[in-house]
Amino acid sequence: MPETKAAKIRTRVEALRAMIDNECTAPVCRESGSCRHEGEKEAARHMLGRLLDKLKGAATDEHEERAELWAEIYKRGYDSQGNTYRKGAKYRAGQPMKERISQIRTHIKIARRTAKSPLVPDGPGLASQALQTYRFDPIGEAPEQIKFRVRIGAGYGSVRISIDNIPEDWGWIAEEVADYQGEIVTRWKRTPALNDLVTELKAIGEAYNADHGSNLSTDSFMKAFYVFVKADDPETLALRSDGHRTRHS
Ligand SMILES: [Zn+2]
Repeated sequence: MPETKAAKIRTRVEALRAMIDNECTAPVCRESGSCRHEGEKEAARHMLGRLLDKLKGAATDEHEERAELWAEIYKRGYDSQGNTYRKGAKYRAGQPMKERISQIRTHIKIARRTAKSPLVPDGPGLASQALQTYRFDPIGEAPEQIKFRVRIGAGYGSVRISIDNIPEDWGWIAEEVADYQGEIVTRWKRTPALNDLVTELKAIGEAYNADHGSNLSTDSFMKAFYVFVKADDPETLALRSDGHRTRHS
């Protein structure tokens, strides 16, 4: 029987697990006997841990029917992967900032690559779910034109993640408000999608921040370095390009 298109669809959870479990077949790695893609596997492990954590959280919030769906996805991988994630986070403790930065970049790259797989297979009753998937994988679901920059801040005390080239209608809501003089001005508010993306990037950065990746809220994270996520609103961008012109004219 020929393989149907539906049978080829992998969920994002499965795609990540495959990336984690499969032996590397790249010729260069086979010849040298050491795989150069461990960083990608590590990022995939971490991403899967986070994804499954969120699905687990969702399972408790959703109505029973949908909760069952999420629970099923959750059951598929959490037990074995949860531990790996924690081990991986410990393994990175004490690494130079340069390496942390490069791992955060890898994480973003892997998130975008695996986003080509659906989070869950298409099926009846799942139409509305598609609208919500960005909540579970905000990096993967972000518009393709967005560029991410990950840098070390001054003095090696911070990681700076910038979200550039944000489509205006995707990322921002213009609110007309009266300023203190009664003039109507535009205030730019982040959309929920952009908010989730910022939160996700912050959480990724914080996860690379310490040796307890499984708990993002412990104090020990904050002490090693700070994580800043920057998304400039349309007004800031316009001001900056004005300043740029002035300086160069
Ligand atoms: Zn390899």
